[in-house]
Amino acid sequence: MWNFYFVVIMYVTSLGLSHRTQTGKFICKRCGETVAQAEDLVSIPSKLALQRWNKTILGKPHITTQKFENPQGAQFEVVTFSEASVTSNEDAHTEATWFPGYSWRISACSRCNFFLGWKYQPVNFNHMTFTENDKFYGLIMDHIIQDIDSDSLVIIQHPNAR
Ligand SMILES: [Zn+2]
Repeated sequence: MWNFYFVVIMYVTSLGLSHRTQTGKFICKRCGETVAQAEDLVSIPSKLALQRWNKTILGKPHITTQKFENPQGAQFEVVTFSEASVTSNEDAHTEATWFPGYSWRISACSRCNFFLGWKYQPVNFNHMTFTENDKFYGLIMDHIIQDIDSDSLVIIQHPNAR
């Protein structure tokens, strides 16, 4: 008996098989630093969004994507994360927030300082009444790049006998 093994390597970039290989991440558009993991994507809808739609991002379906406008008229397509590896400015602002009840802090790439989005924390955040879990991040889709890890290589072996 002869066994033939056909090794099929599929690079998963779309729906279907990608559901079991959610190991993708986002990297800084400017320098390639890892800034967020696909598993940390969360949907946090805001009534203040100009537009809101669902998108499949890094194999994760139904991720809330929102378009916001700042008082200067600049528009941003934003996705939200429970965690992100970014550096956030000390100053927390409450004016013109897109998430009522939350203040925002400018967040940038910790390696190259490229502007990536905002860190949101409850207004009057303090460690007596809130925990770090109450925060989230809104990152600008145009400033980050989706990157599928090598873990997403799926190797299927087909044993064949004749
Ligand atoms: Zn960077």
